[in-house]
Amino acid sequence: MSEIMNDGEMKSLVDALGKIVGPSNVLDRYEGRKKFTGDQSWLTYVHAHYGKPLSVQDAVATPHTTQEVADIVKLANKLRIPITPMGGGSGVQGAADATRGGIMINLREMTKIRHLDKKSLTITVEPGYNVKQFEEDLNKQGLSFTHYPASAEWASVGGCLAARGSGVLSTKYGNIQDHVLSCEVVTPTGDILQMPSVPKHAAGPEMTMLQVGAEGIFGIITACTIKLRNLPKRRNFNAFHFETLAQGIEAGRQIMVTGLRPAVMRLYDKEAALHSLERAVAAGLKGVTKVLMFDGDHPTLTDAEANVAYDICRQNGGVELGCQIGQTWWEKRYVFYHPPYAPYLPQMWCTMDTVADFEHIEATYDKVTHAMKNAIDPKWGLTLKTHFSHWYDWGSMIYPRWGVPKGPDDLDEAVALHNKIIHAATIAAHEAGAVINDHHGVGLRLAPYMKLELGDAGMKFMAGLKKGVDPLNIMCPGKMGLE
Ligand SMILES: Cc1cc2nc3c(=O)[nH]c(=O)nc-3n(C[C@H](O)[C@H](O)[C@H](O)COP(=O)(O)OP(=O)(O)OC[C@H]3O[C@@H](n4cnc5c(N)ncnc54)[C@H](O)[C@@H]3O)c2cc1C
Repeated sequence: MSEIMNDGEMKSLVDALGKIVGPSNVLDRYEGRKKFTGDQSWLTYVHAHYGKPLSVQDAVATPHTTQEVADIVKLANKLRIPITPMGGGSGVQGAADATRGGIMINLREMTKIRHLDKKSLTITVEPGYNVKQFEEDLNKQGLSFTHYPASAEWASVGGCLAARGSGVLSTKYGNIQDHVLSCEVVTPTGDILQMPSVPKHAAGPEMTMLQVGAEGIFGIITACTIKLRNLPKRRNFNAFHFETLAQGIEAGRQIMVTGLRPAVMRLYDKEAALHSLERAVAAGLKGVTKVLMFDGDHPTLTDAEANVAYDICRQNGGVELGCQIGQTWWEKRYVFYHPPYAPYLPQMWCTMDTVADFEHIEATYDKVTHAMKNAIDPKWGLTLKTHFSHWYDWGSMIYPRWGVPKGPDDLDEAVALHNKIIHAATIAAHEAGAVINDHHGVGLRLAPYMKLELGDAGMKFMAGLKKGVDPLNIMCPGKMGLE
């Protein structure tokens, strides 16, 4: 990772940034790299562990207004240096790592609520608002974001949009792209662009969506208007045991294609049920398990919808396990990301998230599982636990979580082993008719597979867009499989 600035140039950069955001809101390379080490991907951690950090920003600037963000971007264009936006830093693909130096823009201090419309249940909020805090503040007013990524305690609202994420209630409320109505963006040349106020219009393509999932390459989201919901009056939980995964998938398919909308529908394969879910719920699970939750403003309707879905589970061989498992999971849903559940070095870990339609879903599960299990020498003791947790009316997400108790002691060998597993899983998903990811974004990890996903024409289109809006390639260069 080459340094792009000498110390003198860096000092001039720090001074120039200080004139925009105030000197106390700028860190130089030395302090900036200590405080902002990159995101939460295993790749970031392992590189830092071996003293070769992936995130090598020359300065970190913390703006408080959109105008300050725009002025920083203009400065970067003038100096021709890269910019990497940093939200909560909870990404798992290395997207927020400033791999080519330059300026990291820390958005965590942009947290104002600009407008709350209680009639339309919409809110305009700045990108740095922490997701957990946002939800808690809304709950005090009887409202909810309903976007609950498992990383809520670290993630920012803007980061959720930029990475095109999903929350645990996505099956009913949609992924982040279904929550967002509009956004304000500082473009890569430093203009302030206000998108149409609602996404329903016929004034050309929906440009807000160009920013959702762009991971910063098309600009910096400085505010967004998103939908809210009332806190539900009723939550109805249940869980079912299935003899086979196929039965659980078929029950899920029937629930979705007939228009029922569980807020939560999590189908755990045997490994995930016994070695992950069971650790939290301690319910004596025996194998494939599905956890369901229906919620809503109208308790009678919620219960009626739930009962129809539960009948579908029974008709597909599901054995009812009762409401306690779901309730315990709901209360403990964040424990999985803390000790003793969360992995740490020298372990290796990662997830892959893929989506397939119902026609291809079983084959995708089988092929991805087979490919991952056979990707590396059995001596590494790879563990694999898979669940299906974001369902659509045409298919479902498959989420294999893998781990290796201890990887190689050499950085390059460890990364090569990691990449072998990711490669096997991604190719297997693609060959089975699925996509390369569902909600974890691209970052460094999946950048090499963007061409597989989009093809030559798709990459040409993306590169053309990027060159058009960012002629000097300031924003997040090298990300998304682009130059
Ligand atoms: C334990 C754990 C559990 C997780 N569970 C989930 C989950 O359930 N669902 C899910 O979707 N994800 C999950 N993630 C992944 C991650 O939390 C999400 O991708 C999240 O949306 C990232 O938000 P962030 O603010 O931390 O973004 P960052 O990691 O800071 O940044 C992500 C990308 O977006 C860019 N970016 C950040 N803010 C902006 C902005 N305002 N404008 C433009 N670009 C920006 C960054 O440059 C980077 O490319 C999990 C991560 C962890 C560690």
